[in-house]
Amino acid sequence: MKINPKRRKIAYFSMEIGLNEKMHTYSGGLGILAGDTLKSAADLEIPMVAVTLLNRYGYFKQELTHDGQQIEHPDPWPVEEFLTKEDVKVSVRIEGRSVRVTAWRYDVVGVTGYVVPVYFLDTYLEENSEYDRKLTDYLYGGDQKYRLCQEVVLGIGGVRILRALGYDEIETFHMNEGHSALLTFELIDEELRKTSSSMILESHLKAVREKCVFTTHTPVPAGHDKFPLELVRKVIGPRDELFSLPQVVYDNTLNMTYLALNMSRYINGVAKKHGEVSKLMFAGYDISSITNGVHAQTWVSEPFQELFDKYIPMWRTDNFSLRYALSIPNEEIWNAHMKCKKTLLEYVKTQTGVEMNEEVLTIGFARRATAYKRADLLLYNLERLKEISSKDGKIQVIYAGKAHPKDEGGKQLIKKIFTAIQELKSHVPMVYLPNYDMKVAKMMVSGVDIWLNTPQPPLEASGTSGMKASLNGVPNFSVLDGWWIEGCIEGITGWAIGDFSENASSEQHAKSLYEKLEKTIIPLYYQHRDQFIQMMKYAIAINGSFFNTHRMVQEYVINAYFHKES
Ligand SMILES: *Cc1c(COP(=O)(O)O)cnc(C)c1O
Repeated sequence: MKINPKRRKIAYFSMEIGLNEKMHTYSGGLGILAGDTLKSAADLEIPMVAVTLLNRYGYFKQELTHDGQQIEHPDPWPVEEFLTKEDVKVSVRIEGRSVRVTAWRYDVVGVTGYVVPVYFLDTYLEENSEYDRKLTDYLYGGDQKYRLCQEVVLGIGGVRILRALGYDEIETFHMNEGHSALLTFELIDEELRKTSSSMILESHLKAVREKCVFTTHTPVPAGHDKFPLELVRKVIGPRDELFSLPQVVYDNTLNMTYLALNMSRYINGVAKKHGEVSKLMFAGYDISSITNGVHAQTWVSEPFQELFDKYIPMWRTDNFSLRYALSIPNEEIWNAHMKCKKTLLEYVKTQTGVEMNEEVLTIGFARRATAYKRADLLLYNLERLKEISSKDGKIQVIYAGKAHPKDEGGKQLIKKIFTAIQELKSHVPMVYLPNYDMKVAKMMVSGVDIWLNTPQPPLEASGTSGMKASLNGVPNFSVLDGWWIEGCIEGITGWAIGDFSENASSEQHAKSLYEKLEKTIIPLYYQHRDQFIQMMKYAIAINGSFFNTHRMVQEYVINAYFHKES
């Protein structure tokens, strides 16, 4: 499809965008949400264009040794196979050097053929210095300076690339997390040029604010970039008229979240609860919430795609119609599920050598390995877990997840799980799949029987893997945090671990987890299979029909993109 840049009104900026498993341009939830958003925007023919970094060597490829030590490898991907090089170059200033930036294009094609182009920024150009060539190599790699340089390329370079390509009618710049907030600097400079002014006035800032929308994604402090003013001056240059603005620099620090908050007309968190938590974190800002979703067509497994095509033919264009999953015969739901389960267990065997039994209740847990996600909560009391599995009904567990290379606590968690795998061996079969990515995720969320999540509230902003599970008829078993507060109907769409209290201890959560597993979930699975399958259908009909990016993008359209307060 030929694109007319003048008709694109929304520019979506994200440090990572995950579109498929072969393009290693994402690390996890944030990037996959970005990719799913663009796919739905294309399906719904939203006039959008997107900008991100090329991330030529990916995030990292995870190898796990026999005792669970994580080894990180570069994770390159064949750029030319997927992207088309655009004939465009712009410059950004970094440490006084003029760094050239080019772009590669990927077309996200929607169900009707409508295209949302994604521009991947690339600094690997002969005319750049060796350091600058590597700026678009690694996602979340390097030190603080490397990160800030990347953000200059993304924010400032991104706006310049769009302009050079003819996108000059953009009404809304959507910052998916604060990494791209430097785009506001470029928009301020555009206002200065437009008004032939050398002084930044409130009217300039207001004009920029009218153009920007910001989505914050985490209440965890490490998720909010902060740069000391000294470093910012060194990298961006002596822009003191900018750095003296209280909206930009506070306490000698450039905080990308505050910059985005100050420069946006609309701000949102990614679930109802997260919106509330963000309001407390950032007092004085008007923060709304739009609950995340996932792209249904991407995350529904083949067997369920066939089933939906047969019973709900319009589900791909109209995700709301998944509501009618209630009318699919139980037997066909179960057969589709067993196909997914077999595929997963075969994969488990090839990866780990462990042969799991397809008749056994299988629990899935896959997250970024980091302390607050508490991958070890299920393992709180190994004796108790052994007892449940031997007396009440057998269970087996499949884990996966990467730890950020600098997250020592996360790496320890993986090791701890490997130790438990050995201890539980003959009682509760357990495996840890290496290199959790979109491919592994798709197999896991459809192939297990229940999807477990155990974050420490209120730190899980939304979470999306549980939504993927719902779409495949896999009920969630989860702590009430993030999206699950909205998605949980006890005994219908899944089960809650603990109650709403935020200061429940891990011990209390573990106790609740074991009790529900023992008294509710295991008996239901083994003795009341029809009721279990009924819950699978509710997961699709109630949660799958709502927690998708078609609904989410429509909410952005209604509340953020085309709605202006003034
Ligand atoms: C969906 C997904 C995530 C995010 O899931 P959470 O529930 O937020 O942990 C992370 N990584 C991969 C590979 C995914 O597919």
